[in-house]
Amino acid sequence: MQSIDTYAFKGKRALIRVDFNVPMNEGQVTDDTRIRAAIPTLKKVLAEGGSIVLLSHMGRPKDGPSEKLSLKQIIPTIEKNLDGHKVLFGGDCMSEQAAEMAKQLKDGEILLLDNLRFYKEEEKGDEEFARKLASYGDCYINDAFGTAHRRHASTAVIADFFPNDKMFGYVMEGEINAIDKVLKNPQRPFTAILGGSKISSKITVIENLLTKVDNLIIGGGMTFTFMAAQGGKVGSSLCEPDQFNTALRVIERAKELGVNLVQGVDAICGDRFANDADQKTFSAMDIPEGWMGLDAGQQAIKDFDKVILESKTILWNGPVGVFEFDRFAEGSRAVSESIVKATDKGAYSLIGGGDSVACINKFGLADKVSYVSTGGGALLEYMEGVELPGVAAIRG
Ligand code: AMP
Repeated sequence: MQSIDTYAFKGKRALIRVDFNVPMNEGQVTDDTRIRAAIPTLKKVLAEGGSIVLLSHMGRPKDGPSEKLSLKQIIPTIEKNLDGHKVLFGGDCMSEQAAEMAKQLKDGEILLLDNLRFYKEEEKGDEEFARKLASYGDCYINDAFGTAHRRHASTAVIADFFPNDKMFGYVMEGEINAIDKVLKNPQRPFTAILGGSKISSKITVIENLLTKVDNLIIGGGMTFTFMAAQGGKVGSSLCEPDQFNTALRVIERAKELGVNLVQGVDAICGDRFANDADQKTFSAMDIPEGWMGLDAGQQAIKDFDKVILESKTILWNGPVGVFEFDRFAEGSRAVSESIVKATDKGAYSLIGGGDSVACINKFGLADKVSYVSTGGGALLEYMEGVELPGVAAIRG
């Protein structure tokens, strides 16, 4: 397998699949995190004397090309992050112009092609579409972790056209190393904290993690399905009766495997789903009608904290309360702070999966943990034990 650190880029056109699916508002990039993340990979290729063809998608175009989802809009932001380095625009990724500009590309130049998803062939993983994209470059770098769980033309199929010239970029390398460190080679005790809304969307993750962790903390909306399955009263909390058997199976399996399953024993409840709801703490097994569990209670927070502080490896996915409401964010804040303390004491901590990242950012603690993953769905699938197509295509 090739590595970006040792590959000879001089005189070569590197096709780089990046994740420039950035949020936009009226033609302006509102958060350039994903663009910033890819800069080290771009700079490396340029520093070694190569040129770059950038491939990305943006949003979910329904009827072909549109200005609203054109990547042309993000060129100023890419240039700004590259200290003013010019970025050429090749237009439609299947056009004659794109092919010609890629052919004429000189060392040190960067060419951006428009949104790959303007063509349905991209998401279908169409081989001819991938072949055409492949013809624009001499080597292929996948640096789009956010789409690594999809077998799309530009994320996986294209790699087959570069059997000896394919590699990960630094974003992909960083993500894979972080996850492998946690899932394949954890220092013990290893604690996973799983929160969020529903057990049904996390069950495969829970089952896979049970075989790896020493402690599994269950928080957030899922708590109440667990409590109700064990005969608890959960009032009007989020609850999935069709998952009771699943919850009981998880409890059983944890016992069999010797995993310490930590469930929040109390919950801060609201009388409705709103930030200004009346608040009261109840036992998570005994919530009266008309009240819903929206955050972890004081005892639950203490229990979580104790386990987290004793851990050497920590994986956190999903807030333990409705953190979007400031008055129900205390549990998630406490978990973030416990993880930061454990990290200070030498633990390795990985935070990932959509909302936990928003959560750690909200509390301004993202730079105080070991690694914050950028890929929501991709990270979840990795945690389910699935080999991601984008990763397999490079390794294979
Ligand atoms: P997920 O996408 O499954 O990780 O879920 C994240 C969402 O779960 C966030 O929007 C939280 O507000 C929500 N959540 C966390 N705790 C609860 C709870 N007790 N009741 C309802 N929603 C919750």
